[in-house]
Amino acid sequence: MSISTIKNQSSLLGRIHSFESFGTLDGPGLRFVVFLEGCPLRCLYCHNVDMLDMKNYKEMTPQELLKIVLPYKPYFNSAKGGVTVSGGDPIMQPRFVVEFFKLCQKNKIHTTIDTSCFTTNKEHLEQLLPVTDLWMISLKHFDDKKHRALTGVTNAPILENIHYLSKRKARLWFRYLILPGWTDTWSNLRALCAFLRTVDFELIELLPYHTHGRFKWDKLGLPYKLNGIKPPTLNSCHKIKEMLKKEGYKVILNE
Ligand code: SF4
Repeated sequence: MSISTIKNQSSLLGRIHSFESFGTLDGPGLRFVVFLEGCPLRCLYCHNVDMLDMKNYKEMTPQELLKIVLPYKPYFNSAKGGVTVSGGDPIMQPRFVVEFFKLCQKNKIHTTIDTSCFTTNKEHLEQLLPVTDLWMISLKHFDDKKHRALTGVTNAPILENIHYLSKRKARLWFRYLILPGWTDTWSNLRALCAFLRTVDFELIELLPYHTHGRFKWDKLGLPYKLNGIKPPTLNSCHKIKEMLKKEGYKVILNE
């Protein structure tokens, strides 16, 4: 075996944090969810803060991962589901996801990527396009200054990539976290609507901010900077839902 073959094989090891065999929140139907380690963002509210730093993972080839997934196929396929790669952010391990999704499609398994879409490498998107049945993309903030404050990165490549995927007819779902004082302001909601008018997408899912992952920050000794922010009221979430529905969009409020 040549050195380059060995290198290629080793670079195709995925860094897997954990699995969820019967997920109902990460895409259509019942999903086998694979949480990949690593994320280019540092969202102040991250509920999977233990998956960001490439520190806590198990290495696996795409074939090994498929072997774990296959026994669940009868369950998720009969419930119109499939496999979702999440994290962290799978956009950090594009080659691994491409090879894993290729295997899924060969085995007639529906593929979904749950991502921020923060990458400056169009080639990665290009390779993911034919093997990804559904893109679930989190929209964080439309004011770049606030986006940087909230996530640590600019929103420019994210918005550009979404336009690119939309032009390439990718099936898109958006996720939008309702974070009081940050993403529920009228200026940001207006910017959200203006952006949505420029892309083709299927639905937008609203996720009310919660603090369920907060304990992980404490456990890791990380300062949680959103102390004092309470989850939005159901009433305010419904108002946002109605506003988006009036724009003609299909909206799901994940209560
Ligand atoms: S993109 Fe997701 S995983 Fe990454 S920091 Fe933000 S919330 Fe956490």
